[in-house]
Amino acid sequence: MEQTLVILKPSCVARGLMGEVIGRIEKRGITVIAMKMMQLDLNILREHYAHLVDKPFFPGLAASMMATPVVCMVLKGVDVVSVFREMVGVTNGRKAAPGTLRGDLCMSNQANIIHASDSVENAKIEIARFFKPEEICDYTPANISFIYGDGEY
Ligand code: UDP
Ligand code: MG
Repeated sequence: MEQTLVILKPSCVARGLMGEVIGRIEKRGITVIAMKMMQLDLNILREHYAHLVDKPFFPGLAASMMATPVVCMVLKGVDVVSVFREMVGVTNGRKAAPGTLRGDLCMSNQANIIHASDSVENAKIEIARFFKPEEICDYTPANISFIYGDGEY
């Protein structure tokens, strides 16, 4: 099964949306196998957003990501990287489809409440950036045979 890295951004934490987002993850049948709150700094943000460091909006983005602690999670499931990106919706919350987390819960391109890894390869790199191996509780939920059908997992 795949794993993906999720960050509940300050726009999620400060607006009291952590429970809503985690609830939707659980209801979908995706397993949370690691979770912690942390205060990000510029060093980790320069790494995490290396593809955006030279953009004019990077200083604002970095400030927005350091405004409060964030919640980092590792999610596990079949095809969870792509399944969860679909659940998150497109970057700009004003353009994200209704039913997606961003499309239902935010109105911003920057303060868009959540980060999710965009590929299996990047998920591995991002999980290693935010979690030590011993912080990940890679377990199988007892209801797994009701989440998936025969042969699917
Ligand atoms: N971002 C921004 N302005 C932009 C594009 C992106 O502030 O014009 C922020 C936004 O918070 C986004 C993050 O940078 O979530 C990472 O950008 P990316 O293109 O990787 O989008 P994502 O994968 O989060 O949808
Ligand atoms: Mg991205």
